[in-house]
Amino acid sequence: MSELLEINSLSKSFGGFAALTDVTLAIAEGERFGLIGPNGSGKTTLINCVSGMLRNEAGSIRFSGEEVRRLPAYQRTRRGIARSFQIPRPFRSMTVLENLLVPYQYVGHLRDDEARAQALEVLRDLGLSQKAEALSSTLSQVELRKLELARAMAARPKLLISDEAMAGLSGSEVDEVLKILFDLNAKGITVIMIEHIMQAVMRFSQRVVCLDAGRIICEGAPESIVKEPEVQRAYLGA
Ligand code: ADP
Ligand code: MG
Repeated sequence: MSELLEINSLSKSFGGFAALTDVTLAIAEGERFGLIGPNGSGKTTLINCVSGMLRNEAGSIRFSGEEVRRLPAYQRTRRGIARSFQIPRPFRSMTVLENLLVPYQYVGHLRDDEARAQALEVLRDLGLSQKAEALSSTLSQVELRKLELARAMAARPKLLISDEAMAGLSGSEVDEVLKILFDLNAKGITVIMIEHIMQAVMRFSQRVVCLDAGRIICEGAPESIVKEPEVQRAYLGA
């Protein structure tokens, strides 16, 4: 497998506070990758640096072999980096389909009818077809998370970064979102899953990295990572 994303010696601070220190990791094309760590360990900040919402002051970020560190977010989206947000904020007075037409037209550079066809196809893939005409303000938690993933899919990404898409969901809802991420991966999309629900990370990931206080404390297969004393201490509170 060739590397899709290569992060080298990345550091990011806010004022004097080091949110990320010397983070180095590589993610292969087609990989299912888990990123874990306690609250405040820097997971979202790392994703913000990769997607271009934040600029890291040190280190490089290569995507498909190209340095993207200085590119604005929309340029990175065009190259195939998509992320979902931890807290979905759809336009509440718009329908589910209308919410998707905005990114599908502008990010995907599609005509109205093409945008509509693609948005409907993604809604079908994500099991949201029934809700296409519903106001997004009427959606349940799990439906909102699916809409958020559907929005991220507008750019037809090579890499999808899911930021805690399962937080607060029931067991069967977690399974639904997990299946969606597996299906997208089976279509060739590389997936980074950030998640607190250890069971979900274990089932999904081929490889897991654990952050603590902005540093990588260990990396490995999911079954080995949960046995690491640092992970038990930092993440599982043992
Ligand atoms: P996680 O996603 O792992 O919970 P975050 O990346 O959100 O952690 O946050 C890492 C640390 O950086 C936290 O201490 C948080 O308070 C701080 N932080 C995140 N974003 C900002 C910001 N925009 N300004 C200042 N501090 C921030
Ligand atoms: Mg976070």
